Amino acid sequence: MIDGLTPSMFESAVAEARTPALALLASEGEYSRATSTFPSLTPVCLSSLATGAHPDVHEIPHLVWYHRGEGRLVEYGSSFGAVIAAGARRSLQDTIYELNASHLGKRAVTVYEALEDAELTAAAINITCYRGRTPHRPTVRMLTRPAYGPKRFFFYSLFESDVTGAPLAVRNRPAGTIDAYAGSVGRWLVTRDGFDFLVFYLSDYDYASHTQGPDAAHEALGRCDAAVGALIEAAGGEAEFFERYAVILCSDHGQTEVSEVARLRDHFPDALVTASNRAGMVYAEGEPAALARRLDGAPGVEVVLFREGVDAVARRDGEELRFRPTDAGFSTAGDPGILDHPNALVRSWAALGNPNAGELIVSAAPGWEFADLAGGNHAGGGSHGSLTTGDSEVPMLTIGLP
Ligand SMILES: [Zn+2]
Repeated sequence: MIDGLTPSMFESAVAEARTPALALLASEGEYSRATSTFPSLTPVCLSSLATGAHPDVHEIPHLVWYHRGEGRLVEYGSSFGAVIAAGARRSLQDTIYELNASHLGKRAVTVYEALEDAELTAAAINITCYRGRTPHRPTVRMLTRPAYGPKRFFFYSLFESDVTGAPLAVRNRPAGTIDAYAGSVGRWLVTRDGFDFLVFYLSDYDYASHTQGPDAAHEALGRCDAAVGALIEAAGGEAEFFERYAVILCSDHGQTEVSEVARLRDHFPDALVTASNRAGMVYAEGEPAALARRLDGAPGVEVVLFREGVDAVARRDGEELRFRPTDAGFSTAGDPGILDHPNALVRSWAALGNPNAGELIVSAAPGWEFADLAGGNHAGGGSHGSLTTGDSEVPMLTIGLP
């Protein structure tokens, strides 16, 4: 899984043979574009990929959200500044432990839990949604509790189920040391054929793409390609690799260019706003419809979603679309063009059905980003989080699946 890889970047890299390992996979597989969940942000999307469920079941709502039960903010790392603003220690605990130990919905079943209950061996490298049944002691003294992951579990050098000799993950992220760690562990596992199922998660591409803009981080994609190529080599070559493994190659969300930044907080001095990248949440008492009207004409806002009785409402430019699920799909009233994004009714309904979501969920307009807690943003680069096609579409390549 390559974080933040857009379908267009994948397709052009393969067509122009810039990425030999990805091109080899593409030549052996079946390819299409798929749609992420919403908000199209990493913790939400990775939780969907690991559980097969939307946020109404897995309950991870955003990169940053308000925990009603504990009366506090949860910040998984929108930016380094936002982590500091939310309290670095708390934020690290939330990202490293609590996302899996307490935030991830109890009704959700992770792929690792399902496979290991069937007596298979699951392995995960660096993916932030890792909940499994095996306790792993931390490798550093700063952390004291075990994390419960799959039997084979490797997490940014902080938890390692096996001694692999991989270099430290967090030395120099811009230079790609996190993916170098993943690549090294991946080679070790493939050399030993040490799993029935492996999530090989490469996070550095998204990081580079936020800075350089979508479809521009060629060097980072080259490193992803080399990491995938090393897995093929570790299996003994392509024939052996394809005989031994079925492969799904995908990303968690896309990215689009952003050049403008809006501060959602300015519209809600009396409410709690959690915003980051291209999605925002408003937690407030009172009538959601009245709160939503405050964003009519607000720069950077495309769609505002809220629940009203048995209906969900999408508000855009002062117009509303009402919808609710039925046995045959959705019943709607109003202009369906308000939600003209991919799979938007399903995704919006599921995002609103998350008990940890705000009373309002805000999807950003093209080109706009919402400033995070510390004012952080990616203006001039790439971002994601909204319902729009560019943020939501992902490459989906399958090889050897029935
Ligand atoms: Zn990102």
